[in-house]
Amino acid sequence: MTINLINGKEIAAELLDQLTADVAALVTAGARPPCLAVILVGDDPASKVYVGNKIKACGRVGILSKEFFLDSTASADDVITLIDRLNHDDAIDGILLQLPLPRHLNGDALVQHISPAKDVDGLNILNAGKLVAGDKTGFVPCTPSGALHLIQTVAPNLTGMHAVVIGRSLLFGKPMAHLLLRENCTVTMAHSKTRDLAALCRTADIVVAAVGQPEMVKGDWVKDGAIVIDVGINRLPDGRLVGDVCFAEVAPNARAITPVPGGVGPMTIAYLMANTVKAYKNSKF
Ligand code: NDP
Repeated sequence: MTINLINGKEIAAELLDQLTADVAALVTAGARPPCLAVILVGDDPASKVYVGNKIKACGRVGILSKEFFLDSTASADDVITLIDRLNHDDAIDGILLQLPLPRHLNGDALVQHISPAKDVDGLNILNAGKLVAGDKTGFVPCTPSGALHLIQTVAPNLTGMHAVVIGRSLLFGKPMAHLLLRENCTVTMAHSKTRDLAALCRTADIVVAAVGQPEMVKGDWVKDGAIVIDVGINRLPDGRLVGDVCFAEVAPNARAITPVPGGVGPMTIAYLMANTVKAYKNSKF
């Protein structure tokens, strides 16, 4: 039995190559390079790794990056003051507030201070509203954009397909559902209160799992020939990294499936770069 793996690492690299060429052409024509500001509050080790990877991707594409570190005791006002300064800085195209924030800060509320025009994470309520309204001028969160891209490498035309999205977060599940709806899928959103999730998933042509529960989606939850996108990143006690899908059980019968790691993860960073280039172009041209 051959497994049709969706190689997110390779597909992300192709997108990064395209963006690199795009940026190089603009800079050669005399424009300044795009610039992404990354704000890190506190010293969470995982967040530091994520920020490091984002900065590295900027370097690869030719995007300037500026890091802003705030102490873990920073107040909401400190964060807002910094965001306001960056909002008004014409040399900055995109602003990213690395989440999660220290417990005393409300990340959902603070990201609303980022100008919608520089909101490359797509978390501002105006950008969320544009997605729901079908207005393509806004910014869409990076992980669902990347997940849709991966699905369309297997099936470019999704019209009429039934997609089940497990998870309804603002960061992933809700925007994912709207992106699939925009592609004319029939979308069902599932969550922790959904009844008989296994039976529901068995009706899906596309299963997207973004739950945070290791290997929850079992082999008999997925019908033969379904496309399976595993967004979950879970560290097991033995140190292994697994997704929300039981890969060994699901992969043999899937039309195509993303691995963890190397599936959706690399696409998230690639779409952050794409959104930064979009913000830059919007402001310059
Ligand atoms: P959240 O915790 O915000 O949301 C999880 C969702 O899963 C909720 O809607 C919750 O339902 C639902 N859920 C929880 N348990 C169950 C269950 N037993 N059955 C059905 N639904 C359930 O997580 P995120 O959306 O932020 O992230 C989800 C996963 O994706 C995580 O593993 C995260 O690490 C990963 N992730 C990966 C990214 C990447 O780049 N690859 C980026 C972002 C996230 P309810 O709303 O009812 O509570």
